[in-house]
Amino acid sequence: MTERLYYEDSHRQDFTARVVSCRPEGTGWAAVLDRTAFFPEGGGQPGDTGTINGVPVTDTRETEGEILHFVAAPLAEGAVVTGALDWDRRFALMQNHSGEHIVSGTANRLFGCDNVGFHMSGGEVTIDLNAEMTPKQLDRLEEEANRVVFENRAVRTYFPKPEVLEKIRYRSKKEMTGNVRLVEIENCDLCACCAPHVNRTGEIGMIRIINAMRHRGGMRLTAVCGVNAFEDYRRMCRAAEEISAMLSVPRTETVRGVSRQSEELERAKSETAALRRRLLEMKIAGMTPDGGDLVIFEQGLTGEDLRRLADAGADRCTGVCAAFSGGGGFQYAVASRHVDLKPLAKAFNELIEGRGGGSSSMIQGSCRASEDTIREAVASVFGRAEE
Ligand SMILES: [Zn+2]
Repeated sequence: MTERLYYEDSHRQDFTARVVSCRPEGTGWAAVLDRTAFFPEGGGQPGDTGTINGVPVTDTRETEGEILHFVAAPLAEGAVVTGALDWDRRFALMQNHSGEHIVSGTANRLFGCDNVGFHMSGGEVTIDLNAEMTPKQLDRLEEEANRVVFENRAVRTYFPKPEVLEKIRYRSKKEMTGNVRLVEIENCDLCACCAPHVNRTGEIGMIRIINAMRHRGGMRLTAVCGVNAFEDYRRMCRAAEEISAMLSVPRTETVRGVSRQSEELERAKSETAALRRRLLEMKIAGMTPDGGDLVIFEQGLTGEDLRRLADAGADRCTGVCAAFSGGGGFQYAVASRHVDLKPLAKAFNELIEGRGGGSSSMIQGSCRASEDTIREAVASVFGRAEE
C-alpha cells in the first residue's frame, strides 16, 4: 500500500519515494511508488500532475487500491525518485474544492438543502443543490460563505472510529461505512471527503458565485474561488475598463453608458428605416412600369421593407410590383391590385428556385435564381396571367 503523504500534509509539494513498479499503460507508463504526495482523482477533484525525476506526470488515479502515476517515460523499479507536484494547479484545485465545501455546508446550514452533485473543471466548480433559491438567498449564501473565508477558520481532517462515526452528523452523498475520512471546517461544515484541502479557510481568499440557474427542481451554481476568483475579477475589471474607455464614462457607470448607447442606436435605426422608406417611395414614383409590371432590386431591405415597397408599387401597375433584396439569394415580395397571385405562387417559385406564398394580393418568400432569371419569370408567370 502506498503511503498517502497528502493525508498527513496537504501542502507537501515534493517528496522522495521508491518505485515499486512501472508498467506500460496506454501511450506511456504507470508507476506505483511506496509513498506519494500526488493525489489520485477522487471526491470530485482531478488527479495531480507534476514530475517524477523530471519525467512529466500527466495524471494520477487510483484503481483497486493502487495509486497510478501516469508518466511519459519508464522509471526503474526499486529506484529512489523525487516527485514534485504542479503546485499552482493543485493549490487552485484545493481552493476551489474547499470553497465548494463551504458553499455546500453554508447552504445546508442556512436553507437546509443538500449538495446532490459536484464537478470541477476549467478553474470552476459546479454545485448542484436540491432547493431553489431567490437572488436574495443566493446573495446571502455568497456573503456568509465569504465570511467563513475572512474569519480564517481551521480545516481539520480525520478518520473517526466506526463507533464514533455512527454518532456524528456529517454531509455525504452516499451511505458510508468503514474508514471514512471527514473534513471539518470550524463552525461551518462536516463532510466525508478523500481529497486534500486547505489548512485554513483564509487560504481561499474569496468565493464568487458567478452563475446560478434552476436545475432539476433545485439550483446549479457555478463558483470560482481563490486564484480563479482573482483571475475572474481581473478579467471582469479589464473588460469594464475597456468598455468605460469606449463609452467615455467612469468604470462604475458602464451600465448607464451602454443603455444610453442602445437607446441612441434604436433611435438611429428607426430614423434610417424611415429614410430608407422615403427613398424607396421616391424611387417608385420615378419608375415606369414595364408592360404593366414593376421589378425592383434593392440592397439591404428587410421583409417588411419589401412588403411596403411592393404594396406601394402595386398602386402604379396594371400587373404586379415585385421587389427583391439580397445578394447570392434574394428575399422577395410581390403585390398586385389586378392579378390573383395566390394560384401563381407555385409556378413562380419553381422558376426562381424559391419558396414562399401568401394571399391573392401579396406573396413573399426567398429564392436563389439570378436577377435575369427572376425578371424573365415575373414576365412569363404574371404577364401571362394579365392577358
Ligand atoms: Zn470534498
